[in-house]
Amino acid sequence: MHMREFQQLMKQLYLHRDEKRGIKGTYNWLVDEVQELGEALETNNQEAVMNECADVIAWLSSLSNVIGIDLERATLRKYNGKCPKCQFSPCKCEF
Ligand SMILES: [Zn+2]
Repeated sequence: MHMREFQQLMKQLYLHRDEKRGIKGTYNWLVDEVQELGEALETNNQEAVMNECADVIAWLSSLSNVIGIDLERATLRKYNGKCPKCQFSPCKCEF
């Protein structure tokens, strides 16, 4: 499944709810899910981490739907096979 197909799935499942919640409300959910991912990472529970990674992508997709961003296009535009800063793959930026 491509990122665009996943975003389309999130649109099909949740757009009617995401639009009611609005940009700020959907953004706040994304932030909550990132926070939960951080908490899961501290538990060392791989199952919980997987679930939270899925939630982060799902909520980022929902937010992108509400604001009309094609997430696949946006990410490939910036990360098109090389580091956007140093232009190398793998990245050679100073650590
Ligand atoms: Zn780099």
